[in-house]
Amino acid sequence: MTEQLIFLAGQLVKKQDAKISVYDHGFLYGDGIFEGIRVYNGNIFRLEEHLIRLYESAQSIMLSIPYNIDELTTIIIDTIKANELQSGYIRLVITRGIGDLGIDPFKCKNASVIVIVEPLALFPEELYQTGLKIVSASTRRNRSDVLSPKTKSLNYLNNVLVKIEANLAGVPEALMMNTDGYVAEGSADNIFIIKNKELITPPGYIGALEGITRNAVLEVARSKGYVAREDVFTRHDVYVADEVFLTGTAAEVIAVIEVDGRIIGSGKPGEITNDILQGFREIVELDGVKVYK
Ligand code: PMP
Repeated sequence: MTEQLIFLAGQLVKKQDAKISVYDHGFLYGDGIFEGIRVYNGNIFRLEEHLIRLYESAQSIMLSIPYNIDELTTIIIDTIKANELQSGYIRLVITRGIGDLGIDPFKCKNASVIVIVEPLALFPEELYQTGLKIVSASTRRNRSDVLSPKTKSLNYLNNVLVKIEANLAGVPEALMMNTDGYVAEGSADNIFIIKNKELITPPGYIGALEGITRNAVLEVARSKGYVAREDVFTRHDVYVADEVFLTGTAAEVIAVIEVDGRIIGSGKPGEITNDILQGFREIVELDGVKVYK
């Protein structure tokens, strides 16, 4: 990669110059939204779905994005090209912009639009071979009727608290229950359990983000002939599942082999998980908006 360039305030700037004001309400109040997107060999995976989720988040919090979808698509493509990136991660951040110290978002006149692209390696490749050991966190998922996970906001403290619990337990990820005790998701990924060859993931309304990888995995699973559905489940169902895996833009599809000390299935990434991972890695090579025409 050449010197990293970041899109900020309408132009591409060097990483060391990519700074925002301490009066930006994204910084002061977590007032903003974001998206994490992948580009695979010059194909941006499910860009339209990510942008729909972004614009819906904006609509929900009355944040006006100063570009339409086509303009933002061009900005993303230009930022990837400027960084000469073939494969990597794209982070879009839209904040309410600069205001005063008060919370009033209407005092922020212009949203800040930031695009960061980077090569990515979330989990080392060996973890895809071995699978993850995870724990369940005591931190509960914030309730959908308080702050909907459908709004992918910069307010990620709930998730940060879960990640702290994972760190303290010495594992890479932890699971959140909702306030009724049903399994919601990880700090930054969705969960699937497999029982008797059926794939089950929690529905969005219980407090899970409707992840774009999750939706792609539901499609992959069904196209391979598996039953794949949304349903509520508890930690018990996770402990006695045949296989468990997590999904996310950064994580893709990664097996979980132990939860709270309970070995899942054979203690190795399962056959169906591997089949789904393979199917997912096939579609990311085919689908997508082309960066280099
Ligand atoms: N849940 C949370 C809380 C997340 O932050 C993410 C990552 N965006 C996901 C799930 C996975 O969503 P996606 O597949 O769209 O990356």
